[in-house]
Amino acid sequence: MKVLVTGGAGFIGSHIVDELLLDNFDVIVLDNLSTGKVENMSDRVDHYNVDLKDNLDLVFAKERPDIVIHQAAQVSVSYSMKNPGFDAEENIKVTVNLLEACVKYGVKKFIFASSAAVYGAPEYLPIGEDHPVNPLSFYGLSKRNAETYIQMFSNIFGLNYTILRYSNVYGMRQNTKGEAGVVALFIDQALRGEALSVFGDGLQTRDFIFVKDVAKANVAACHYGDRKTFNISQGTKTSILDLIEELYFNLSEPMMPSFQDERQGDIRHSLLSNQEAKRCLHWEPFYTLSDGIQLTVKYCERHQVH
Ligand code: NAD
Repeated sequence: MKVLVTGGAGFIGSHIVDELLLDNFDVIVLDNLSTGKVENMSDRVDHYNVDLKDNLDLVFAKERPDIVIHQAAQVSVSYSMKNPGFDAEENIKVTVNLLEACVKYGVKKFIFASSAAVYGAPEYLPIGEDHPVNPLSFYGLSKRNAETYIQMFSNIFGLNYTILRYSNVYGMRQNTKGEAGVVALFIDQALRGEALSVFGDGLQTRDFIFVKDVAKANVAACHYGDRKTFNISQGTKTSILDLIEELYFNLSEPMMPSFQDERQGDIRHSLLSNQEAKRCLHWEPFYTLSDGIQLTVKYCERHQVH
């Protein structure tokens, strides 16, 4: 079975590639390296340095993938607020371009990286997949639009799919530039001897999921979960202050939080139910926050750049 992973040189995509290889899939990567890195990728995969906005016929005609796992995207919420056109181009137009190629070349299944951002402000917790979708950012809106296109392609052309809405993903190879995840940012700040930027009182909570568990959910979706949408989350609330405590146990550097004004639009609490994914994908998160932080810190210490 051949799987094409878009964004396979990026943070989450590269871990998906690793898990697919462990599961004996043939894997090819399509990535324009805009934020991804060649060194993230196993040398057991063929990489096409192609932009998804371009014509995809050459790659699809040559490789004829059975499954496409679409991770490539414009991933920054704040960038989307300043550049909604670019965000729409990268997250909607590109997805439609890819869906067209999938239909044309007979791809059997399309697996899509969506986000908790589609829900917007929670009306209740935990958020199940049937929670109203009301995105607050252009990024959330573009992810939601891409989901709807995928469902239309399924209805009209019969393309099979699974949509995975990730909560806050953290782990090895996460970018610390641009809009980094808070775990990557804190570890980077601590290793540089800088104070950790905490917005608000630090009691806001997030649902952190380790990247290897997200990768395993994508591999599970190659086998199960046809034509369904799932939250991929730990299903646990962790406050920013609890996260700092966990980092404190694992980092040899001293750490000081620096409290700053709450950011406008920040959601106070976020928690996604993962019950449906557990039931239908035969998947569950394996790594506790403690395990994941330990592995991430070790990786960052080994790859520290000053
Ligand atoms: P990332 O930036 O590390 O990976 C994105 C990859 O896509 C990069 O390798 C980049 O070079 C490539 N890419 C971007 N635009 C491209 C294009 N036009 N053509 C070809 N390649 C292109 O980001 P990530 O954190 O690994 O995110 C992966 C996916 O997961 C994204 O779709 C993102 O929206 C989604 N997601 C991430 C999180 C998170 O916490 N990181 C949470 C929810 C959803």
